[in-house]
Amino acid sequence: MKVAAMFEDKTGGLAEKPKPKAKGDFVVVKVQVVPMCTEYKGFKSGRHADCLGHEAAGEIVDVDHSSRVKVGDRVVVQPVTSCGKCHLCLRGENIHCQHMRNMHKETGNEAGSATYAQYLVKPDYHMSHIPDDISTEYAGLACCGLGPTFGAMEQMGVNAIDTVMITGMGPVGLGGVINATYRGARTIAVESHPFRAKLAKELGAALVLDPNDDGNLEKLMEFTNGIGVDKAVDCSGAAPAQRFLIDAARRKGQVTFVGEGGALEVQISNDMIRKGLVLRGNWHYNLAEYPRLLNVIRNNTEKIEKFITHRFPMSNVQSAWELQTTGNCGKVLLDPWN
Ligand SMILES: [Zn+2]
Ligand SMILES: [Zn+2]
Repeated sequence: MKVAAMFEDKTGGLAEKPKPKAKGDFVVVKVQVVPMCTEYKGFKSGRHADCLGHEAAGEIVDVDHSSRVKVGDRVVVQPVTSCGKCHLCLRGENIHCQHMRNMHKETGNEAGSATYAQYLVKPDYHMSHIPDDISTEYAGLACCGLGPTFGAMEQMGVNAIDTVMITGMGPVGLGGVINATYRGARTIAVESHPFRAKLAKELGAALVLDPNDDGNLEKLMEFTNGIGVDKAVDCSGAAPAQRFLIDAARRKGQVTFVGEGGALEVQISNDMIRKGLVLRGNWHYNLAEYPRLLNVIRNNTEKIEKFITHRFPMSNVQSAWELQTTGNCGKVLLDPWN
């Protein structure tokens, strides 16, 4: 089978790997769409790799022993390879499992852990079925496209009486604008890149602030009648944005960190105790909420078509990574069969 690879000469292309086989509760998925995430950062820095990606949707093509899926099922492939048995997995919090399984060791497959590939292998409980009225391509946004911000907004209970601020309009933050506006919240986006600031507006942001401008906190206070935002999500992973969210949140407000990275000092008295602020981290979403996330996809097809700005054949993955490096894109999808 073909997989995507980053080569030593800073080019990208295809590599050949053995096609994996099902074993036990590990099933094989024929990958039909690969939503691209942050892998381009490795390409940019000259990384050499041929096992890439964590987002995929496709069709089950090989099953050994499974009571959950059968050949022909269309599925979203959930990230990581959790144990499926611990208290976190049983509660749908598989992403936080402390007992990850080793697919290669258990199945003997040399390949199959990457999603930038024609086939992959995962435990059957990592497969979320796609209903008939949703395309495999759109369902693929139930990975990082819409997932992490959906999880953040579920935890914060975002609804139509909230003002929500989201920092960082990469593919995760832009998905956050879709999630927040679908819930009816007045949504503020923070982004300096012109392409992404414009896209955030098109997806429904009521106000877009440029983090390089002066007086953003004052503008924001004016916009919220001097109160601050009710709820906020950082998708930038940048300390200044994370700090801005803490300052911009209202008293008794909530801030959730979704973007990886950054380090900041939090004043326990002024930022947290006296403000009554709730700070939390969120990686993905509770798998029990997957059917609710499907409603976001089902009821926002027009916005989703705007959000997916580019589609590339996997054979041209280099151009896709080059495009992502410029920032002139929303969510980018790869087709591993072209
Ligand atoms: Zn577990
Ligand atoms: Zn991702």
